[in-house]
Amino acid sequence: MLREFSSGALVLRHRQKQWWVAVIEPGREGEPDDRKDVVALPKGNVDAGETPAETALREVCEETGLNATLVTKLGDIKYVYTRKWAGNEKVFKIVSFFLTRYQSGRINDITEAMRHEVRRAYWMLLFEAPGKLSYNGERKMAEKALEYVKAHADELA
Ligand code: ATP
Repeated sequence: MLREFSSGALVLRHRQKQWWVAVIEPGREGEPDDRKDVVALPKGNVDAGETPAETALREVCEETGLNATLVTKLGDIKYVYTRKWAGNEKVFKIVSFFLTRYQSGRINDITEAMRHEVRRAYWMLLFEAPGKLSYNGERKMAEKALEYVKAHADELA
């Protein structure tokens, strides 16, 4: 089976006394609208010569318009999907997720080129993310982020 390695992040921001997380609506030009209602975390392929943490921060910047700083690694998720556009090949995918913190930038301020991959990026309340993200593995990462925030409330404030 083909294998793919990606890396992504939860970008947290404390505002109005609440924690928010940056999410995206993925979408790709030429792809049918079957991902229209998907809400996901920013992520992408680990390029040659890049560490997974570097990939996560680069993808955050490209897909959300935000600059973030690394806090900690949260974990890996795994899934299998079928490449419908390439002979129905099956792909086993591992995605590493990092907890990061907002530093600068305006959400959804992304290049035209990225619009082919991201319909929209926006802030979601972190406590709602485990119920609103589309994929089970990403929901679990949001739960982990909530636990981290509770356990480290003093140092993050
Ligand atoms: P990347 O963002 O890593 O560059 P991509 O857009 O090429 O990736 P995926 O986001 O992995 O690819 O999407 C490929 C297929 O897997 C799609 O059908 C998508 O709906 C599905 N998929 C994406 N994330 C998950 C997940 N966490 N769990 C299960 N299926 C997923």
